[in-house]
Amino acid sequence: MNGRLIKYRSYLRNKVLNILSYKATPKPGIHILNGHFLSLNDNASPEIFHNLLVRLSRLGAGFIDFEDAAQRIKNKTFPKNECLLAFSWDDGFEECFTKIKPVVDVWKIKAAFFINPNFIDGDNDYREHFKKDIVFTNKNPMSWEMVKQLAAEGHTIGAHTLDHLSLNCNELSFLKHQIEGSKERIEAQLGIEVRHFAFPYGRLRHISQLGVDVACSTFPYVYSQDNYRHYFSFGGKVINRRHFECNWPLNHVVYFLKAKTV
Ligand SMILES: [Zn+2]
Repeated sequence: MNGRLIKYRSYLRNKVLNILSYKATPKPGIHILNGHFLSLNDNASPEIFHNLLVRLSRLGAGFIDFEDAAQRIKNKTFPKNECLLAFSWDDGFEECFTKIKPVVDVWKIKAAFFINPNFIDGDNDYREHFKKDIVFTNKNPMSWEMVKQLAAEGHTIGAHTLDHLSLNCNELSFLKHQIEGSKERIEAQLGIEVRHFAFPYGRLRHISQLGVDVACSTFPYVYSQDNYRHYFSFGGKVINRRHFECNWPLNHVVYFLKAKTV
């Protein structure tokens, strides 16, 4: 898809969401919101995310730690009258540390960060390829020191494969290398067990049943970024997160906080 078409589609999507989300209100349930960065605009201020949280809380949403949310979803202990939100960010961009962490710190929220070890350790050529061809941004990764500090302060560090490749294949050695390999590399750096895994790109079509099986035998918690009206995909094995970004308009975020079923 070319750049102009992407821009046009996102313009149309925003227009449609503006109409659909008029007077949207958060519904009871636990919603894990998953983003990637503060904003595509590198000069954006963390204030935009802080303001989004202020406005969400004014609408009655409560914020809980990522691991609490994951555990409650797994145990199926859903709130009847509360809308509880937890947050994660994929791909491990530097601004997760420099711009997002300061905001979640103010709110005393423990979040999750799903990272790709080869993006951190890659040489210049690898990083340029990763940014340009894999995640389509110009943003640099966090360093291991930043990741270690997040972990030391109680945030969750999750795995997101080594190279951020689609897992929709049936090649067992490739799946094990990407899934188990990312767990081993992060654990070697942090010295703690990594229990959470989000597969790259996040749509259900981006992982095969064999990929889900390898992921679930490696990690107790596996996440998509799809199918948000239901808590689970793949027969209860995968927990669904909902895509958002920190700079989205309030109504667009609220629109997706709908009633959910198992
Ligand atoms: Zn990703």
